[in-house]
Amino acid sequence: MKATPIDGKAIAAGIAAESALRTARLREAGTVPGLAVVIVGDDPASRVYVRNKALACEKAGLNSWVHALPADTPQERLVGFVRQLNADPTVHGILVQLPLPKPLDARAVIEAIDPAKDVDGFHYQNVGALVVGEPAFYPCTPWGIMKMLEHEGLAVEGLHAVVVGRSTIVGKPMALLLINAGATVTVCHSKTRDLGAVTRQADLLVAAVGRARMIGADMVKPGAVVIDVGVNRLPDGKLCGDVDYDAVAAVASRITPVPGGVGPMTIAMLVANAVRGAEKAAGLAAAGETRIA
Ligand code: NDP
Repeated sequence: MKATPIDGKAIAAGIAAESALRTARLREAGTVPGLAVVIVGDDPASRVYVRNKALACEKAGLNSWVHALPADTPQERLVGFVRQLNADPTVHGILVQLPLPKPLDARAVIEAIDPAKDVDGFHYQNVGALVVGEPAFYPCTPWGIMKMLEHEGLAVEGLHAVVVGRSTIVGKPMALLLINAGATVTVCHSKTRDLGAVTRQADLLVAAVGRARMIGADMVKPGAVVIDVGVNRLPDGKLCGDVDYDAVAAVASRITPVPGGVGPMTIAMLVANAVRGAEKAAGLAAAGETRIA
C-alpha cells in the first residue's frame, strides 16, 4: 500500500478563504474582527509563532495586535492587561502565547481571559464544554485535525482511534473530540507499556509526542489513517514529525506530512475561531457552529 498524503496546507487555505469571506460579511455589517496576541519575554520560537498568527489574521482581513511584554512582567500586571483586552469591544479573540516565563502562572492568566474571547479553547469553561460535547472554542490543533478528517471524507464514527500523547493542548482534547464524534479512543503516553501493541490496533493513529520519527511502520496497522502532530528539528536543521513518514507511508492509507500537514490547520482554526468570536459579538449566526455530541 502507498498512502495518499493529506494536504493540510491546501485544506487550511480553503478554511482561510472562508474566514476571509466571513470577515468581509462582518465588515459590511460594521464589525472588524480583531485578535489580540500577548507574548511575554523573548523566546525566539514563540516570536515566530506569534508573527505567523498575526500574518494569517491580516491576510484574512482581521485586525491583529501583538502585545510584547517584558519577561519580568509581574503576574498582576499581565492579568490586568488581559482584563483590559476583555473589556475592549474591538478585540474578539485573545491569545496568550505559551509557555510563559517563570514564575508566571499560565493557568491563572488563562482563567482571566473572557471565555467568549478564549480562541485557544484553554479556559476551564471551554474545556468543560468540550467534555460535555457542547459548542465552544476548541483547542486549534485537535479541532483542525477534526476539520481535516471531515474535509477528506474520513468518518471517524466506529473507528478505533489511538492518540499518542496526553497534553492539555493536543492529546487530551484530541481524544475528547474523537469520543464526541463516535470513535473508540485509546490514549497512550510515556507510561504506556508496549506502545506498538496498542498503536497497531489503530484505524486512526494520532501522534502528538515530540520525538522525531518514533512511530515506525511496524507500529502501524496496514490501511490506517495516520495524523502526525509532532514538530521536531533534526540536527541538519530540517523539520520532521513523530512519524517515520517514508516507512509508514508504505503501510498506511492516508498520512499527513510534516511540514504541511497539521501545522497550517492549527493557524487556520485560530483565525476561524477569532472570526466566530466576532460573529457572536455582532449577533450574526456563526458559521461553522457545530454541536458534535
Ligand atoms: P507535550 O510535551 O506537552 O506532550 C507530549 C506527550 O507525549 C506527553 O503526554 C508524553 O507523556 C507523551 N510521550 C513522551 N514520550 C513518550 C513515549 N516515549 N511514548 C509515548 N508517549 C510519550 O507536547 P505537546 O502535546 O504540546 O506537543 C506534542 C508535539 O506536537 C510536539 O512536537 C509539538 O511541537 C507538536 N505540536 C504541533 C502543533 C502543530 O500545530 N503542528 C501544535 C502543538 C504541538 P507523559 O504525559 O506521560 O509525559
